[in-house]
Amino acid sequence: MRLRRGAVPVLALAVVLVAGTACATTVPGRASAITGELAAPVPAPAAVAVATGPAGAVTGAITAELQRFWRATFPAAFGRPWRDIAQFVPVPTRDATEPPPPCVGRAADLDGQAFYCPAADAVVWDADGLLPDLQRDYGPAGPIVVLSHEVGHAVQTRLGVDEAQVKDPARYPTILLEAMADCDAGVALANLMQHPVAGLPFGPAERDAALAALVGFRDPLGVEANDQSAHGNAFDRVSAFQDGFSGDANRCAAMSLDNQRFTQRHFGSAADQARKGNLSMPTLLAAVEADARTWFGSVGAARSPGWTAPLLRPSPTGACPKGQLTAQGPASFCPVDGSVAVDPATLAPVHDKLGDYADAVLVASRYGLAVLAADGKRTTGSVAGDAATCMAGAYTGRLIDPNGGFALSPGDLDEAVQVLLADDWAARDARGDTEADERGYDRVAQFRSGLLGGPESCFPPA
Ligand SMILES: [Zn+2]
Repeated sequence: MRLRRGAVPVLALAVVLVAGTACATTVPGRASAITGELAAPVPAPAAVAVATGPAGAVTGAITAELQRFWRATFPAAFGRPWRDIAQFVPVPTRDATEPPPPCVGRAADLDGQAFYCPAADAVVWDADGLLPDLQRDYGPAGPIVVLSHEVGHAVQTRLGVDEAQVKDPARYPTILLEAMADCDAGVALANLMQHPVAGLPFGPAERDAALAALVGFRDPLGVEANDQSAHGNAFDRVSAFQDGFSGDANRCAAMSLDNQRFTQRHFGSAADQARKGNLSMPTLLAAVEADARTWFGSVGAARSPGWTAPLLRPSPTGACPKGQLTAQGPASFCPVDGSVAVDPATLAPVHDKLGDYADAVLVASRYGLAVLAADGKRTTGSVAGDAATCMAGAYTGRLIDPNGGFALSPGDLDEAVQVLLADDWAARDARGDTEADERGYDRVAQFRSGLLGGPESCFPPA
């Protein structure tokens, strides 16, 4: 987060590193439009339990399945024939005798990367480093989602997107082509989840792991959406994947700068950049309290005139009984008096591991429950938990390009996605319960719906 001058007093700032920064390396001298393609991933802290096994077996099965899927889907979606992808090329990048793979000068240049090479119509990947790492960090979902994304680029080539980009590069920035490929991955993997294939486990747990892998491939902080090399922040990437997962290939192909809103932003100031967009926890809590009370206060007062949003109580022994605090996670809505309480001892590790906005999301979701209570809505049950997550998204949406006060820093939306994937805190109801089959994917979807639809879209029907 960053504070504008005069917004909230800035206390002593601690420099806190975000948990890992992505390193998007570029391949020197490569002529392809997609240089800097998926580089070495940053392990994401998603708590997902998935099966493991050798990456090679998964890559063989998923490439065959993707070829089969698009062979059937492409003609049906676009009314033109599909040409099979010519080559799938696993490259032993640590073998110095390996001949040059398509689109790169030496096998070693592919270290930590996967890409689609249009000139050779080849999906190429580092079989010694990247794919085993993905398998280790995310289970089979890691190789599955990355190869699905690369095949998405092959789909684009067949749709003439490469030529269109050459003619009008400003209309086809990298970030748009990456979003389309993430979307195509979502289309293919929705089908895989519906129609399981032997050797390719892909259920709800693997879907969360796939999102976590995409988060690992986000751009470094401070890369802007209109930067020609931008691939997208975590939020943009998981958004595109979800649009494909719930949509179809035509939706991906129709993506354009007119209908996509990219949230990636540059740092607002040198000071913000120096602290990597992170405020210290005391500063963050003071700022969120002031800002969230104003905003949620106006949302609540619009439905319940005269209502004011509660203060944030930074004490586990404040308004909420200790058990209630524990049940909801690091931040809690306290039905006993309508207040919001935080437990600094459990909030601090989240701040240190993921960044300041992870904490802000948890606090905002609890203000979301306070607003529901103000409107006479239930604060227990899965509908309330969904609404709380949605409200955290609605609160976040207007911080992307704010008019004043408090603003998102690069990385904040990534932190939001990470905390939503890591735990179900934001979706817990006032008793601390969530649905038994609650998933990170669903929480991200609820958060996005609030971000895009605003607070009114979050209130459950009467
Ligand atoms: Zn790509």
